[in-house]
Amino acid sequence: MQRTEFSPPHEYRTDRRSPVRWIASHARRHWPLIGLMLLGALGNALSMGYVPRLIGRAFDALLASLHDPATALRTLLTYALAVAGVYLVRGVLMSTRNLSAETLAQRVERDVRDEFYAALLGKSMAFHDQIAVGELMARATTDVREINLMFSPGLSLVVGSGAFLFAPLIYAPRYHPALLLTPVLFVLGYFVLLAQLLHELLPVSLQVRRLFGLLSARLNEVLDGMETVKVLAQEAREATRLVALARRYRDQMIRQIHIEARFLPLMWLGLATGGGTLHALALFMRGDLTLGDVVGYVGLLQLFRFPAFVSQFAYSQVALGLASASRLLQYLNRENPLDQNLGGYAAPMRGDVEFEHVFFAYEGTEDVLHDISFRVRAGTRVAVVGPTGAGKSTLVKLIARIYDVRLGAVLVDDVDVRDWDLGALRSQIAMIEQDVFLFSKSLAENIAFGRPDASREEIIRAAKLAQIHDTIMQFPQGYDTVVGERGLTLSGGQRQRIALARAFLADPRILILDDATSAIDSETEDRIQRAIFSVARGRTTFIITHRLSQIRWADWILVLDRGRLVAQGKHEDLLASCEVYRRLFVEPARARSGE
Ligand code: ADP
Repeated sequence: MQRTEFSPPHEYRTDRRSPVRWIASHARRHWPLIGLMLLGALGNALSMGYVPRLIGRAFDALLASLHDPATALRTLLTYALAVAGVYLVRGVLMSTRNLSAETLAQRVERDVRDEFYAALLGKSMAFHDQIAVGELMARATTDVREINLMFSPGLSLVVGSGAFLFAPLIYAPRYHPALLLTPVLFVLGYFVLLAQLLHELLPVSLQVRRLFGLLSARLNEVLDGMETVKVLAQEAREATRLVALARRYRDQMIRQIHIEARFLPLMWLGLATGGGTLHALALFMRGDLTLGDVVGYVGLLQLFRFPAFVSQFAYSQVALGLASASRLLQYLNRENPLDQNLGGYAAPMRGDVEFEHVFFAYEGTEDVLHDISFRVRAGTRVAVVGPTGAGKSTLVKLIARIYDVRLGAVLVDDVDVRDWDLGALRSQIAMIEQDVFLFSKSLAENIAFGRPDASREEIIRAAKLAQIHDTIMQFPQGYDTVVGERGLTLSGGQRQRIALARAFLADPRILILDDATSAIDSETEDRIQRAIFSVARGRTTFIITHRLSQIRWADWILVLDRGRLVAQGKHEDLLASCEVYRRLFVEPARARSGE
């Protein structure tokens, strides 16, 4: 069983052992469509193989009735009608093949996208820390799309042209058993060429997809960090880097095209047509075939044109699809360190928090927390202080089990957070980070993000408590004002108050605030303070802060320095006893007052 932090109500399980199995496990669910596609393809080829047979017969009949124009005309008309009829049937069958392939492609794309999206939601923060957003975007969009194209036109043409390889094998012996020779040789040679093509093409296709991912990750990063790029005047350098990547992508594409161009089935088709015609003529000379048979047989060999022409395109499409599938699988199969722990401890939370000798390291880093132990009772207001990089944010994230400890344990209500049902744990903890993220939705929806069922009255009450109601009422559409992308139309302080309203609505037992924002004018600061105090009432609160007013308000203070808990206690006691603490407050204050 895969470990995830979130499992959507998944309708069915897929086989993720290899790209082919995975795609097959998705496609299998739509077997009626696959059946129709095969039926359409085979029927199409068989009817097309029958046309030269009819024409050959018409030829013979015409030769036999040359002396009698009236009969000849009638014969001709009959055969012409028969050919038209076969074409009509063929048209229906071909549409059946295309329609079912296209429907299949769209459905599989939808299912794959659902599965991938749900998997991303279920991955831990440790996973998301490591993967660039642009890379995920490339996979969630173009790679998923490639899987669609792999079915239609890709597999549709593979199946269609495969049937055209098959039909001559059925019809040739009807002319003369020996005439099976050319089709058999053609098909064998064709598969040898194809195997060689795929062997070369697959790794290059993977490379093409990989470079596209890099390119899109790079682009995303630059767009994301546009302000930094501009402020530091790095446009030219970024442009060069992007061009270099684009060039590598182009080179790989050209390599792929070269490989495709070296694929020689057209020449092979020429040889087969020539050889087959000679063979048929020889049999005609010996009297084993009629002239009409020769005409029909040469026409039959023309069926190979379809596979010879489309195969390189069709199989490249399939190769690209498989490459994309394996890229999607890379993430789907990535081991998730955390799991949802469904059926774990789930009870209304009181809010006691305890750290027992906690050590923690991020993926590939040294320990950023060393041997942290403390205990606070439900309802305590805890301030976490310390210099930048001391590990404050990391410490509070462990409470909500965003990451797992390396050693030791974090307990909430005396239960190890790893034994809690993850959903139950997190839904009773609210975390407000420094950089509050707002979705491009209305303010009301943003406030109600954790409780979509909240009524307008509840939303307004929360906003009032969070001191943001007046501000919202000043916006043109009030609560229905849609936030610009990433909330850029709101100031840091306003965003924080929206987050406070959000937290209040969610009614958590533990409230975590990363309030290190310093550059806020005093009026706003006062409002934020009041907002925090009223939302925090009655909850265990952890606040990361430098502000004296907030620290005074706290019942308990944790002092962190370089990943260690160097002291804990009340403000006055710490001032008297702790050097690091004194340095944090007394010295900056002295510096400000010019002492
Ligand atoms: P603070 O909140 O006290 O400023 P943090 O908890 O943010 O400190 O960071 C503590 C240490 O962990 C720092 O050295 C920081 O570089 C590192 N760190 C923070 N987040 C990550 C992460 N996602 N991956 C790797 N290292 C990280």
